[in-house]
Amino acid sequence: MTTELKELLDSNKQWAADTETREPGFFSRLLKQQTPQYLWIGCADSRVPANELVNLLPGELFVHRNVANVVVHSDLNCLSVMQFAVDALKVKHVIVVGHSGCGGVKAALNDTRTGLADNWLRHVQDVRNHHQEWLDGLAPAQRVDALCELNVLEQARNACQTTVVQDAWARGQEIVVHGWVYGLHNGLLEDLRITAASAEQVGPAFARALSAVKLRYDGQRLQSAD
Ligand SMILES: [Zn+2]
Repeated sequence: MTTELKELLDSNKQWAADTETREPGFFSRLLKQQTPQYLWIGCADSRVPANELVNLLPGELFVHRNVANVVVHSDLNCLSVMQFAVDALKVKHVIVVGHSGCGGVKAALNDTRTGLADNWLRHVQDVRNHHQEWLDGLAPAQRVDALCELNVLEQARNACQTTVVQDAWARGQEIVVHGWVYGLHNGLLEDLRITAASAEQVGPAFARALSAVKLRYDGQRLQSAD
């Protein structure tokens, strides 16, 4: 086994040279520009590269990722990223992004023991437990993606409830929280429309988005039963 990862370092040199040839001055411009409009909170899954999916350059999207895109009220890592993004960088949008076929969500759904991460995934299991009866009514093949979407809604609501976002809204700073889901099978992002631009909007936006998700899956269930 290689111990130096020479292939990655070589490929980095090539990438830096190619980038500079294609866009002279790219790196000197990047140095001066950390003014992202967006904070992306997504899953750590290697198949969901945040910048690339939305075709943004480094410097245009601030990113935090963890297993199953969870926003926990006491997670100082995520909260610190949010605080820097909102207070210092003044991002205008916080986007919580889940994805179809998420391994973390699947493990949480099925009570699969994975190790230390089980404790982290308890947060997703809380979401599952809350909607257990509805999930049980779906076809087994639909349950993972349905829970991925419910998880996005719950985590986006959690993002709204952080002191970071609540304080920003209270002082009149414009910030909009969104919940999206990414389709691994087609490369497309879908807006789950839990869009909130003020503390008052959070509850109604969550309720609307939740019933839209449930209606869509119930519709698919009825279709497949025909
Ligand atoms: Zn995932």
